[in-house]
Formats: sequence, structure tokens, C-alpha cells
Amino acid sequence: MAGDCVFCNIIRGRLPAVKLYEDRYVVVFLDIYPAAPGHALVVPKHHAERLEDLPETYRSKLLGAAARVAPAILEATGCEAYNVLINNGRPAGQEIMHVHLHIVPRRTDDGCVTLYCRRSKPGWEELKALGERIRTAMKAS
Ligand SMILES: [Zn+2]
Repeated sequence: MAGDCVFCNIIRGRLPAVKLYEDRYVVVFLDIYPAAPGHALVVPKHHAERLEDLPETYRSKLLGAAARVAPAILEATGCEAYNVLINNGRPAGQEIMHVHLHIVPRRTDDGCVTLYCRRSKPGWEELKALGERIRTAMKAS
């Protein structure tokens, strides 16, 4: 736990949150700046900045809690679908530096076209070369 971390302070009960679910590993609460009504955050009860810093048990509990809570969010909001995402690092849009998973309810024609703002069509050789670099990096770590 980090003393100045907003999420650690919510976990400790020092800051308010509208909690939807809580267990030994995670807490799920409504985002106070929602992208859509019902936008919720799944937060591990272990302070780590990024997904790769989080112990494996907490990583799997994040996704488990999302799968448990998301259907209830859809039922309560009347939404048809949802996105699950983790903004990992500031350039990816992470604002609170305590890893967290977003559940963003979606509906047809909600005005949010896609989370992919740019897509390209690289050649097969380019994809294979990049794949090789990533596999090499995984072996090195
Ligand atoms: Zn924290």
C-alpha cells in the first residue's frame, strides 16, 4: 500500500467510493469520471504500478472479478456489451499509477466508435520480424 495513492486510500476506507464488489484480493467500484454510466474499476488490494508488477494471484483475480461484476452492470444499465481494458503506463492513458482494470459498458450507437484510434495493415514479413523480437525479449527477461 502506498500512502499517497488514491486507490490504496479507497482500499483502506480513507476515501469514499461506490463499491460494487470486494473480496480479499480486489475491490470493484464505480469510476467517478465514467466514460459511460456503470463504468467500473477493478483494483487489486496490492499496490503495483503496472500489470507486470502485480503478483500472479492478483492478476488472475482482476479478470475473475471483472467477469463476475460485468453482467450485473449490463443488467443494471441496460447496456448490451462492455469493454475490459487496462491502461498500462502514462502513454497508454494510465492516470492513477496503481494498476486497475476498466469495465466500460457499451451499447450500439453509443457514439464511441472504437478503442482502436489507428489501425494499419503491416506486411506478413514485418509481423513475423516483430514477433521474433518480442519472443526474444520474453526469453531475455
Ligand atoms: Zn496504490
